[in-house]
Amino acid sequence: MQTYKMFIGGGWVDAASGGTFETQNPYTGETWALIPRATKDDVDLAVAAAKQAFHSGDWPKMHPSERGRLLRKLGDLIAENAEALAKTEVQDNGKLISEMAFQLRYIPQWYYYYGGLADKIEGSVIPVDKPEMFNYTRYEPLGVCVGITPWNSPLLLLAYKLAPALATGNTFIVKPSEFTSASTLEFAKLVEKAGLPAGVFNVVTGFGSEIGDALVTHPDVAKIAFTGSESTGRRIGELAGRHLKKVTLELGGKSPHIVFADAEIDNAVNGVISGIFAASGQTCIAGSRLLVDRRIHDEFVDKIVKLAKTARIGNPMEADTQVGPITTPPQLQKVLGYIDIAKQEGAETVLGGGRPDRADLAKGWFVEPTIFTGVKNSMRIAQEEVFGPVLATIPFGDEDEALAIANDSRYGLAAGFWTQDIGKVMRFSAGLQAGTVWVNTYRAISYLSPLGGYKDSGIGRENGKDAILSWLQTKSVMVSTARSVANPFIMR
Ligand code: NAP
Repeated sequence: MQTYKMFIGGGWVDAASGGTFETQNPYTGETWALIPRATKDDVDLAVAAAKQAFHSGDWPKMHPSERGRLLRKLGDLIAENAEALAKTEVQDNGKLISEMAFQLRYIPQWYYYYGGLADKIEGSVIPVDKPEMFNYTRYEPLGVCVGITPWNSPLLLLAYKLAPALATGNTFIVKPSEFTSASTLEFAKLVEKAGLPAGVFNVVTGFGSEIGDALVTHPDVAKIAFTGSESTGRRIGELAGRHLKKVTLELGGKSPHIVFADAEIDNAVNGVISGIFAASGQTCIAGSRLLVDRRIHDEFVDKIVKLAKTARIGNPMEADTQVGPITTPPQLQKVLGYIDIAKQEGAETVLGGGRPDRADLAKGWFVEPTIFTGVKNSMRIAQEEVFGPVLATIPFGDEDEALAIANDSRYGLAAGFWTQDIGKVMRFSAGLQAGTVWVNTYRAISYLSPLGGYKDSGIGRENGKDAILSWLQTKSVMVSTARSVANPFIMR
C-alpha cells in the first residue's frame, strides 16, 4: 500500500487533521494507496502559501522568459516520466494504458506551448483622445488561482489550466478528484524537481463536498478553473458569482455524431465507435447521440454492432485491451441506471446492455459496450449525459431535421459529422451549436485549438492562444506628458 502526502508551500505534508482516505484500482476493486484527507485548515495553508509566493520571493520578480524556461523544463520532466505517470493514471482511473501513455506523451506540449508564450504577452499603446496623454496597457496576473479536476483525465485537464496560469505569473492550487489524486501528487514531484519556487504550485487532496466551498470562496483566491459535472459546475458558478471570483467552467455534453448517407461509411463506422467507446465513454466529448440518415440506418447500425463486438474488454494495463472498466463505483451504478432507463423508455438494445458475464472481469467495474436504437431525442437517454459506453441511435430524414435534432439539447460541447459534400460541410458546421465541430473525424484535441462549451456545457475556453487572456487582467496606464497641470478651480 502506498501512502501519499500533499504538496503545500514546497513541502510534503499530511492533512492537518491526520485524516486519510483510500483509493482503489477500478480493474481489481482493491485499495492501493492512502491519500491525505484535507480540511479547511489545509485549504487555508495552501492559499497562504500561494499568496505569499505570488507577492514575495523569486516568482513575482522572475522575468517571463525564465518562467517559460521553467515550464519547458517541467515539460521535459513529464516526457521523461510519461510511462510511469500513465501507469499511475491507469491504476487509479482504469483507462487503457495505450490511451494514457499517448496522453502523457502529449501533455508536455501544453508546457512547451504556454512556456513559449510567457514572454510574448504584450500590452498596447492607445492613441487616446486626451491632449498630452500617453496611454498604454499592461497584462498582469490575477493572483492565487484554483484548479478543480475530474477523474477521467487528471493530468491532461490540469495541463489545460496550470500551463497558462503559470506562464502568466499566477500561483496555483489544484484539487484533484477524490478518485484519482495519486497522479497529481506524482506530478507535483516533477514540479519540485523542475525548481519552481515554493508555493507557486500546491496540491490539496480530499473530498469536494468537504473542501470545495472553502477553496471556491476563499477571499484570497482570484479565479477558479473547473472541469467536471454540470451540477458541481453550477454550484461553483453560483459561489463564484456571489464572491465575485473569475471562473471558467468546462462541463458535460451529449454530443451529436451525425452520419449522412453520402459519407465514407467505413470511416464513419470507425469514427462513431471510437467517439463513444474510447475511454469506456467517460469523456466529456463522447459522441453519445448517433444521428443516422434513415436510408442507411439499418446497414450502418449492423456495421457498428459488428465492429463493437470485436472489442477486447479486459485489463486496462495490457497494451492490447480495447475497453476498460468504469472509473468509480458510483459511476458504474449511474451507467447501469441509464441503461435501465433507456430500456424502460422503449429503446431497443442491439448490443450489450449490462455487465459482462465473465469471471475474469467480475471484480472490476465493467459495463458492456451498449448500443440502443429506436431512440427519440426527447428520451432521457438522448438528453442526459451518461458518461459511459452507451450509444443512443436516432434516425433522421434530411439535413434540416438532422440539424434540428443535433441542436435540441441543453448541451453544446462538441459535435461531429460525416459527409463528402463540401457545401454541407460549411453549412452544417455553421449551424451546429457546439464549441468544437469535427468533420470526417472525431475526438481530435490540440493544445493549439480552443475547447469549451456552448449553452450548458460551460463558460470560457481553454487551450490555444486566446485562453491565456483568461489568466490575466488588463491595466490601463495614463501618463500625462504636459509640463503643468491646470488649477482645477480656474475655469478655462
Ligand atoms: P464532478 O463530480 O463534478 O467532480 C469534479 C471535481 O469537482 C472533483 O475534483 C470533485 O471532487 C470536485 N467537487 C465535487 N463537489 C465539489 C464542490 N461542492 N465544490 C468544489 N469541487 C467539488 O465530476 P466528475 O464526475 O469527476 O467528472 C465527470 C464530469 O466531468 C462529466 O460530467 C464530464 O462531462 C465532465 N468533464 C468535462 C470536460 C470538459 O472539458 N468539458 C472534460 C472532462 C470531464 P470529488 O471527486 O472529491 O467529489
